[in-house]
Amino acid sequence: MTFDFDLFVIGAGSGGVRAARISAQHGARVAVAEEYRVGGTCVIRGCVPKKMLVYGAHFAEDLHDAASFGWDIEGARFNWPRLRDLVQKDVSRLEGLYTQGLDNNRVEIFEERATISGPNSVRLASGREISARTILVATGAWPARPDVPGAELGITSNEIFHLETLPRRAIIAGAGYIANEFAGILHAFGVHVTLVTRGDRMLRGYDEEIVDHLVDLTRKKGIDLRFNFPFKSISRTEDGSLVVDGGEQGEFETDLVLWATGRNPNTSGLGLEAAGVALDKDGAVVVDEYNRSSVDSIYAVGDVTNRVQLTPVAIREGHAFADTVFGGLKRTVDYRSIPTAVFASPPISGVGLTETQARKEHGDVVKVYRSDFRPMKNVVSGRQERGLYKMITAGPEETVVGLHLIGPDSSEILQAAAIAVKAGLTKSAFDDTVALHPSMAEELVLLK
Ligand code: NDP
Repeated sequence: MTFDFDLFVIGAGSGGVRAARISAQHGARVAVAEEYRVGGTCVIRGCVPKKMLVYGAHFAEDLHDAASFGWDIEGARFNWPRLRDLVQKDVSRLEGLYTQGLDNNRVEIFEERATISGPNSVRLASGREISARTILVATGAWPARPDVPGAELGITSNEIFHLETLPRRAIIAGAGYIANEFAGILHAFGVHVTLVTRGDRMLRGYDEEIVDHLVDLTRKKGIDLRFNFPFKSISRTEDGSLVVDGGEQGEFETDLVLWATGRNPNTSGLGLEAAGVALDKDGAVVVDEYNRSSVDSIYAVGDVTNRVQLTPVAIREGHAFADTVFGGLKRTVDYRSIPTAVFASPPISGVGLTETQARKEHGDVVKVYRSDFRPMKNVVSGRQERGLYKMITAGPEETVVGLHLIGPDSSEILQAAAIAVKAGLTKSAFDDTVALHPSMAEELVLLK
């Protein structure tokens, strides 16, 4: 049987683009359909523009601290439209590079929505039917909005990058990655931020002590962080303000509500069920370790499978898929010890087991080493914020099973240290390494 393409990828995000490029390099004839912009969430309205805003936000504290380093900064003012537009310009540049990467590999791009019309066929929005030996679903995830009256009055991370003007006040609902990152960004830009979440903890999965430290610093910065917040409804008043009903916590007037309450797999209306593809209770495509769905010719990678919603993971899954299906090389992704960071202010990062997870898994052979320190830069500037680094070891050899950091640049510092955790090194390997002085990272080899 002949097909129009060997591979048809739906979704040109991180996972889809990598899978398309590598499959083409293995000799496959590949097409990609993208209904919005090539690059997907990470490049267009996620990690990349968010990180640029984080950089922009950091100037607020740097300019404030500059006097302690001899600089007089007069008349410093923040211009949101300028930053917003410069960020969008760079997003367009990256979109161009991603498109070029596909073109260079002779991947055909269809700039329209595609749905699955059978195990080996897709239908484009224009009505054209295309056959493919293999179909890869890489449609990502979409911001979730809780089902409360007035939910549509709030925006999501999709819209936040395009605000006409900055609000005076903002309520951020949810207290995960996106909420904490945008709380720091908006606060630095002068917005009065209220961060509310339904439970009594935030950033589940991160080490509790590190998160408690972030809670403390977040509040000290002036962000109103509230737990156990029953988000009942949003309504609009006559003057255009929004009112959030927080049940027993009261009513809160604001100018913007940002929903940061998780992201759902993007599978609705894709024709997956009709083609016989099994979805889980959250609508995610169920796949095996080789990213294959319940239909032999249909695969899925990235957020749409709801395994680990992170760009570098989607990229690895896309690459492993391409090598397995078109490269004659059976490859899976190792999900252990994935380093992650929340680009909050200050950032937190972690790899491996948290203290609680380690105690559950390894019992009383767990040891915890801590460094609670004030970064030199903060000493000079008079900033009271302290950093906290934790190392979790297990067993008589003291194998390092977890590293958890909060403090300036902790996301940059963790990446290299994560190699040691992944490699199963012991604390003595850290101790044997001479400190790089003066730095914050040296705390990792000086833990007592
Ligand atoms: P998260 O899963 O990080 O956090 C979701 C938050 O919303 C939690 O506080 C959760 O509370 C709350 N929540 C969930 N459902 C509801 C509901 N129905 N009503 C009220 N509150 C609710 O999701 P994000 O949206 O912040 O981010 C989505 C994903 O994107 C992340 O999981 C991450 O994988 C990825 N991401 C990664 C980044 C990075 O690597 N730096 C940056 C941004 C996103 P509770 O804890 O009680 O469940």
